Amino acid sequence: MELNSSKKGTLVIISGFSGAGKGTVVNELIKKDNFSLSISATTRAPREGDVDGVSYFFKTKEEFEKMIEEDALIEYASYVGNYYGTPKAYVLEQLDKGNNVILEIEMQGAMKIKEKFPDAITVFITPQSFNELERRLRKRGTETEDKIKDRLNRAKEECSFMGKYDYIVINEKLEKCVEDVYNIIYAQSFRKDKSLELIECITNDFNSVK
Ligand code: 5GP
Repeated sequence: MELNSSKKGTLVIISGFSGAGKGTVVNELIKKDNFSLSISATTRAPREGDVDGVSYFFKTKEEFEKMIEEDALIEYASYVGNYYGTPKAYVLEQLDKGNNVILEIEMQGAMKIKEKFPDAITVFITPQSFNELERRLRKRGTETEDKIKDRLNRAKEECSFMGKYDYIVINEKLEKCVEDVYNIIYAQSFRKDKSLELIECITNDFNSVK
């Protein structure tokens, strides 16, 4: 099933606690449909398996601050000691082409984007419990014990943001979660504000019949 390409694209913001499985959900989503995935800039060190320009654009603090000065980011935020930000040019270009763009970003950034792009949809992905989040973060094995603790503490603070999202999706079973998020995005293409041309066309057609 393909999203209706004759309509304007949607900006989709996906957030969730670190370890909630957002990255995996996003990877599955882009296999399912022709979404444009924004690649963020960050000052965090690459993890094993990270590829510059694919996972992130890895920057020094100075390079990142230059991007801020040059207004090259739609939003940026500091997360557990590092900068993360969304390069502006790619997102605007894809939206102009009518493509659906996915941003996988943390909550402060998500709220900034929602202010600038009120039509964006915000989806929050959470595991079913804190214990499950901790289990997944440990199983991932990409962070030191200190960083895991920082991320778990941050997750507790982030609970207060959940109510600001348009949609909350539990990631208990990956396939079901991907399907749920896909269906949410799919439904957006039928929103009346994305169908103004269609409404006009149907109205004209109806009125042209004597
Ligand atoms: P990680 O270090 O695990 O790759 O990412 C840490 C957090 O930063 C995640 O919650 C991720 O969604 C968020 N993040 C990644 N890119 C961006 C971005 O461009 N802007 C913001 N605000 N957050 C981001």
